[in-house]
Amino acid sequence: MTKNCLIIGASHAAAQACVSLRQGGWGGSITVVGDEPNLPYHRPPLSKDFLSGQKDIEDILIRPASAYETANIALRLGTRIKTIDPEAKTATTDSGDIITFTKLILTTGARIRRLPVPGQDLPNVFYLRDTQDVLAIKAEVSAGKQAVIIGGGYIGLETAASLRKQGVEVTVLEAMDRILQRVTAPELSVFYKRVHTEEGVKILENVGATEIVKDGDDLIVKTGDGQALAADMVIIGIGVIPNTELAAEAGLPVSNGIDVDEFCQTSHPDIYAAGDVTWHFNPIYDRHIRLESVPNATEQAKVCADHINGKEKPYNSLPWFWSDQFDLKLQIAGLSQGYDDIVIRGDIESSRSFAAYYFKGDKLLAVDAVNAPRDFMMTRMVLSKGKNLDKAILRNPDAELKSAMV
Ligand SMILES: Cc1cc2nc3c(=O)[nH]c(=O)nc-3n(C[C@H](O)[C@H](O)[C@H](O)COP(=O)(O)OP(=O)(O)OC[C@H]3O[C@@H](n4cnc5c(N)ncnc54)[C@H](O)[C@@H]3O)c2cc1C
Repeated sequence: MTKNCLIIGASHAAAQACVSLRQGGWGGSITVVGDEPNLPYHRPPLSKDFLSGQKDIEDILIRPASAYETANIALRLGTRIKTIDPEAKTATTDSGDIITFTKLILTTGARIRRLPVPGQDLPNVFYLRDTQDVLAIKAEVSAGKQAVIIGGGYIGLETAASLRKQGVEVTVLEAMDRILQRVTAPELSVFYKRVHTEEGVKILENVGATEIVKDGDDLIVKTGDGQALAADMVIIGIGVIPNTELAAEAGLPVSNGIDVDEFCQTSHPDIYAAGDVTWHFNPIYDRHIRLESVPNATEQAKVCADHINGKEKPYNSLPWFWSDQFDLKLQIAGLSQGYDDIVIRGDIESSRSFAAYYFKGDKLLAVDAVNAPRDFMMTRMVLSKGKNLDKAILRNPDAELKSAMV
């Protein structure tokens, strides 16, 4: 039998894994099965340039079709895998086809979390995870329309910015005390609220949606504090859930994601997982995490492919992310959770460029750099090398960033 590496989920991680497998010498066949109709594409532009109309599907493909053909990678798009059998080494599609594998990589990612309120499934109430979602939203967007966005995380705020740029009247509802509460410091939440307000977005914090109802051509979003907000469209962005079911039903250990080791291997030696779906150990932060980030999906895909090709290169990457809203390019290096001190360089109160450094004691954990690419690059390098920045030097606005390196 010819060796076959099967990759389930035609995602960021899949697009990297299949190419890395080939480059690393995998001589068997490679089959990528994905339930979306498109070739693997960059998901981040969905709430940014793709929603605001600056990019089309062709512009956001990770690779053109010819790249898969050249590398002899078979893509089965629009096909869902229903079950996997680790012992028989088979996967069954929703139409009953059986695909055998020698090695399997699960890159099934994550799906949107649904808002548990009545009316969340009405027409013109949208979620935002794939191209079909955004095409449906785009069909409703025009200047002067009203949108209510439920969820003030990065995706909600990016969506707000993209719609606002197209002249839509936007209100963002955040159920917690402040937008971005789960991911950033209060100082950053205040900053983002200021910029969105300056750009004409209305941000309501401590306000949760309790029901969405239809009223003639309008939607009405009812809130916990008694408001009734009229809208032409409602977009919900309240997080994602990892697609772990295939693994769990096959008896593979699952925590907050599919459990994998430093080689992205599950408890089964021939089954790997990469990307948003994994629960993995990060040696830099000395704890298990699940990340929703393209760089992580790409890195883990390389680790799997290397291991399958017989090279042991353990995962040891610094998490990093980005978010684009209006003219703000936020770049984040590291994980700020657990910080007890923050140093801000630059004017966060009235400008749109600064860097916020997160510390636990004297140890640097992370940086949020807004329109400050040098701060991001340098801090990413420092954290990746396990080095530190001197807090006292950082606090001196006249000191060069370089001089804080220790
Ligand atoms: C709107 C938006 C904006 C984002 N912005 C950023 C950003 O700025 N920066 C950043 O780093 N990250 C961003 N992300 C997150 C980033 O897109 C994800 O981290 C990344 O897509 C994860 O890739 P993945 O390979 O894990 O899988 P996914 O991209 O989640 O893809 C998994 C694929 O597997 C398919 N699948 C699942 N189960 C099956 C099955 N049983 N059979 C067949 N196919 C299956 C899914 O339908 C999906 O196509 C954003 C995400 C969204 C939605």
